[in-house]
Amino acid sequence: MREVASSAELRAATDAARQRGAGVGFVPTMGALHAGHRALLVRARAENDLVVASVFINPLQFGPAEDLASYPRDREADLAVLAADGTDLAFLPGEREVWPAPPEVRLRVTGSLGDRLEGPVRPGHLDGVATVVAKLLHLVGPSRAYFGQKDAQQLAMVRRLVDDLAFPNEIVACPTVREPDGLAVSSRNAYLSATERERATALYRALSAGRAAFLAGRRDPAAVEAAAREVLDGVPEVKPDYVALVDPATFEPAKQAEPGQVLATAARVGRTRLIDNVIL
Ligand code: AMP
Repeated sequence: MREVASSAELRAATDAARQRGAGVGFVPTMGALHAGHRALLVRARAENDLVVASVFINPLQFGPAEDLASYPRDREADLAVLAADGTDLAFLPGEREVWPAPPEVRLRVTGSLGDRLEGPVRPGHLDGVATVVAKLLHLVGPSRAYFGQKDAQQLAMVRRLVDDLAFPNEIVACPTVREPDGLAVSSRNAYLSATERERATALYRALSAGRAAFLAGRRDPAAVEAAAREVLDGVPEVKPDYVALVDPATFEPAKQAEPGQVLATAARVGRTRLIDNVIL
């Protein structure tokens, strides 16, 4: 594995690979790598000649009251994971490398994708993700870029970004990796106390209850959402921001529950905010 810190070096390496006709796979991350990231890396390794992974904690996507300063950072552990999963090029740029100055031209996510669910709770978050993903896709120039279903709204936004702005990259979605008790693996799980960790299982239990209601024949979105919310409401110190059944591409509210729709939730467990979703 080769480690690169400069954009010029990264570009030179991926240009050379493309000229050889190599398929380039790209896995963008914020580090603190876990089993969810590893699933993306393994898939990228299986489908491409050259695998590029980035570790960059993008300040643009954090609100002023969010956890940018305390977000877990472990460079050596991340490099070990990347190497073990067969990454060819690890791009670990410093903040000034990606943003020498705060960018004055940025992307803005509109419509339900920008305005619903994560939109109002984390103003500017998806705009910041869109802007950095656009830049990273330009720097890496991958044939395929890998994103997790765990961040369903982000995934839908990236699909729409490449469509709306004619990026030539294929976006590949990877299923959510979970702990044995169902909790979606996340870097932010490290913030949970033992009691909170136990309570956090409520998110997936709630989503599963919503999906079970659908499978039992409920077609009213409110009934599916209520089945999920009931589980969350039964657990102390778990405070949902939303429980919503939405179209997987537009994030518009479902009019009638149908297979393929996304049942998404975000909840605060103590001071930690977790998100999760299932596909009906
Ligand atoms: P992050 O480092 O949190 O920005 O995540 C980098 C990528 O890994 C994103 O595409 C996430 O959706 C994906 N990811 C994070 N957690 C999981 C998980 N539990 N299962 C699948 N993908 C994940």
